[in-house]
Amino acid sequence: MRARSVVGLLCFLTVGCGGMADPDVETSSSALKKRPGRDRCAVRPPSAADQEAIERDLSASTAQAKATAGVITVPVHFHVVITSEGVGDVSSLIPAQMEVLNAAYASAGFQFQLVSQEVVTNDAWYFSVLGSAEEQDMKASLRQGGANALNFYTTAGDIYLGWATFPKWYQPLGFYDGVVVWWASLPGTGLKIPVDPELEPDGLIEYDLGDTGTHEVGHWLGLYHTFEGACNKNGDRIDDTPAEFEPQFFCVERDSCTGKKFPGSDPIHNFMDYVDDACMDQFTGDQHERMRKQWDIYRARG
Ligand SMILES: [Zn+2]
Repeated sequence: MRARSVVGLLCFLTVGCGGMADPDVETSSSALKKRPGRDRCAVRPPSAADQEAIERDLSASTAQAKATAGVITVPVHFHVVITSEGVGDVSSLIPAQMEVLNAAYASAGFQFQLVSQEVVTNDAWYFSVLGSAEEQDMKASLRQGGANALNFYTTAGDIYLGWATFPKWYQPLGFYDGVVVWWASLPGTGLKIPVDPELEPDGLIEYDLGDTGTHEVGHWLGLYHTFEGACNKNGDRIDDTPAEFEPQFFCVERDSCTGKKFPGSDPIHNFMDYVDDACMDQFTGDQHERMRKQWDIYRARG
């Protein structure tokens, strides 16, 4: 029963089955064909029905969410999964990852408080791929806390830098809730990939500043990618991020949705795009509001 539920969810998390647009498939961009290293993120938007339900929940909660003020403290449970040979032990980098999260989310009014950490030796979990029985087993065994608890797992990361679950999915899949990242994305690992300066102006893709965690926690708090919906009207459901046709992998300014309907250049420096860590440093005011509202609706009451 549990496996079947997660497979249904992952249909949208990974490949956008059944008519959901996958921006990686439909593009002919040369930049995408040359994208560096691993895929930044495995998250795809929720089903159309879930998205509509989220919008209804947000509309209904407007008055209530405005009453939510002050700093929101998020308890964090950190699970470092390593191989039997000790590969992947980034436990010494947990404080730096916490600092990165706290700096990125301070202006949104979130603070992250580490309440537990563990190093777990398990080869099957370390090498588990997205949505597999091994990943589900890992989470079912290790997850702690309620809907408000951020469970942060480091593994080999499948073929991605990371993935996350949306707040709406906590019911009924609470055991699966959380963020999984490749351990090498934590700050200070040295994960820097030389690339052609014609693509990346500084000649280096830096994925070791901890912003894979920032990006995935953005999903965990309810944000979509900035390029969600390409140049369509609703896009990422955020009014103050200009529309964006496709992910941007390189730190190059761009305007991919043009014309009077689409003012502004692409939000390439936003944490919810696909640029490298050195290039992303922003959430917008509307993103702050959307995360706080979804916290209030889906996570605040544990
Ligand atoms: Zn993502």
